Amino acid sequence: MGGTESVQERLNAFVAAIQSSMAVKVASIYLLRPGSELELSATEGLNKSAVHKTRMKPGEGLVGHVALTARPLNLADAPTHPLFSYRPETGEDPFKSFLGVPILRGGRTLGVLVVQSNRVRTFTEAEVEDLLTVAMVLAEIIIDDERVGGKKGALKGISLAPTKPETVQGKAFAGGLIRGSAHLHLPPVAPANLLAENIPVEQHRLEEGITILRASVDAMVSGEAASLSRASKEIYETYRMFAYDRKWVGRLREAVSSGLTSEAAVERVRNEHRARLMKARDPYLRARLHDLEDLANRLIRALSGEKLGPGNKKLADDAILFARELGPAELLDYDRKKLRGIVLEEGSATSHAAIICRALGIPLVGRADGILDIIETGDPVLVDGEAGVVHVRPLPSILDSFNLRMNVKGELTRAYDALKFQPTVTKDGHAVALQLNAGLLVDLPQLDQAGADGIGLFRTEFQFMVSDFMPKLKEQTALYRQAIEAAGTRPVTFRTLDLGGDKILPYIDPVPEENPAIGWRAIRIALDRPGLMRYQLRALVAAGAGKHLRVMFPMVTTVDEMMQARALFDREIERAASLDLDLPAKVEVGVMLETPSLAWQVSAVCDHADFVSVGANDLMQFFFAADRDNARVSDRYDPLHPAALSVLKFISDRCKANDTPVSVCGEIAGRPLEAVALTALGYRTLSMPVTGIGPVKAALLKLDADDLAKVLIPQMSIESRSSSLRGVIQDYCAQNAIPI
Ligand code: PEP
Ligand code: MG
Repeated sequence: MGGTESVQERLNAFVAAIQSSMAVKVASIYLLRPGSELELSATEGLNKSAVHKTRMKPGEGLVGHVALTARPLNLADAPTHPLFSYRPETGEDPFKSFLGVPILRGGRTLGVLVVQSNRVRTFTEAEVEDLLTVAMVLAEIIIDDERVGGKKGALKGISLAPTKPETVQGKAFAGGLIRGSAHLHLPPVAPANLLAENIPVEQHRLEEGITILRASVDAMVSGEAASLSRASKEIYETYRMFAYDRKWVGRLREAVSSGLTSEAAVERVRNEHRARLMKARDPYLRARLHDLEDLANRLIRALSGEKLGPGNKKLADDAILFARELGPAELLDYDRKKLRGIVLEEGSATSHAAIICRALGIPLVGRADGILDIIETGDPVLVDGEAGVVHVRPLPSILDSFNLRMNVKGELTRAYDALKFQPTVTKDGHAVALQLNAGLLVDLPQLDQAGADGIGLFRTEFQFMVSDFMPKLKEQTALYRQAIEAAGTRPVTFRTLDLGGDKILPYIDPVPEENPAIGWRAIRIALDRPGLMRYQLRALVAAGAGKHLRVMFPMVTTVDEMMQARALFDREIERAASLDLDLPAKVEVGVMLETPSLAWQVSAVCDHADFVSVGANDLMQFFFAADRDNARVSDRYDPLHPAALSVLKFISDRCKANDTPVSVCGEIAGRPLEAVALTALGYRTLSMPVTGIGPVKAALLKLDADDLAKVLIPQMSIESRSSSLRGVIQDYCAQNAIPI
């Protein structure tokens, strides 16, 4: 779209061409201006003096109605329509029939294209299609002009092009501030050519593309999808629904018959859906929009002959990944050295993708509603993982203040660094061990970087999730040994495989389940198929030779399960002894307390466990019956609600009475306010993502734990209090200069 003519000249030529080719009296273009007013920008047939003068708001008059609804409006006798608003300056009195179509691009309405004639008649369907096609070409001209900054003149300042700075408020799921360039997990594909050279050939191409698409979606649902997370599986089911949707395919066929290339047809139908569904408030409908978008991308790839499969994993050096939702395995597919930050339209704080981000120190903003509609690969982006804000194509002023904050944050990090060698002892003399949650080799240097008191939770399944094949005994042993050696004299607590739920292995066919979080997962798999767990325990025993070995079991719900798991461990120790292998110098076998039922058996389980570790992520999801992976419900509850605090206190009290060490290893342990509360409830070991250690230590050093307990515990009575104690603890911290 080059040429030296101004855009205004091109628009004028456009309306003149439409007027003659469609044999209408009037052809006009109305464009949306800053301030969201539609302005008559070119016309053939109305008074030219009205150009750049006649304006209306979206929703006002027939043109405004088309802009607002993003649908064509085809009227035989427009002046009799209740929405008709008469504009004398345009001289449109003699015109009766009216056909207006939205000018759409990327789901945005850029304006309205109108044809009118002086006869009372309805435009034919073919004419409507033709005008839609023309509107699409027009959108390209407008965007082309906007891309060069509106310098071509007439269109300067069209407000809805995707080049303007945007700020989106989401939720902070993993802290940190980061600058980088956008990378789309599933990038949209722009149609290279809009108009088909040969319509029958194009129709044939489209049919072939649809066939390939359907075959690939069928394959995803039946085979490949089995190894995907539950969320992805639902998406693929919806894909299939759309791929066979007669309306969707029908719209594509119509668009191709009107002269568009198949790619352009996909784009046009997608734009129509976007414009309509973007207005939908209902998250379900908006989610369906994304299904359609992804499907449209797949179809365009199929048309281009590209193999359909996972997205392009190549990243720029400063990539900020944008996705609707990301499973832990999908995340780990990316090169972690290049991945600076992640922005999701969905997601939740306790999902495993979020946990991995915190473990790797990658800022993550989730629930950035609508962000995929305004982002393109390569866009400069600022991710504020502290406030949950994403700045897209930031203005220089925002960039400056962000840089300033990055510097301050750097200073804060240096301040935490200064505390690194200081033991964490509260003002009233309670020593608290701050440990690291880890799982991969890359985590190990963080032990010293953060000055952690050991590893309180080593998620062994991560090694299994990042491998293409089941890690061999030797590989498992090597990783565990490296973790033990990196920790030196500090303890490392290995959690046996916690598979199932959203933690799926690429090389094992999972059993489809309705509710995987409460399905066949973790210890349940281990006890039913003891081979895998014994193999792992063997690796752990070997890695612990001559060292202190700590192992714990996930998702235990009854004391019996703990006894069975422990028996498996004992057998491995006996086996090693009988083979004269080097044994660990010291062994401790613990239990994760992450189900409400085990909370009620805590005293009993203490008889069979050397320590208890509260997995607060799962405990809270089951306690409040709120799926931690479901963005709609995961933050409906507050772990500082008196009901939750009472359970946490109950566990801590019982463990103390039984002389069994207890720790908390869920994400809440790494948040200063929650950590302060846990310390007041008696917890003396907290295990957390690396980013939590500095801030939690800074807070605990200023805390008088017994004093807070005196304030907090009386207010925890569930009978007398119905809402969260967050405010109470926040006030206490403010009054006592505790940094939270
Ligand atoms: C937990 O549930 O709190 C926990 C630490 O385990 P995970 O997050 O790996 O399920
Ligand atoms: Mg858990």
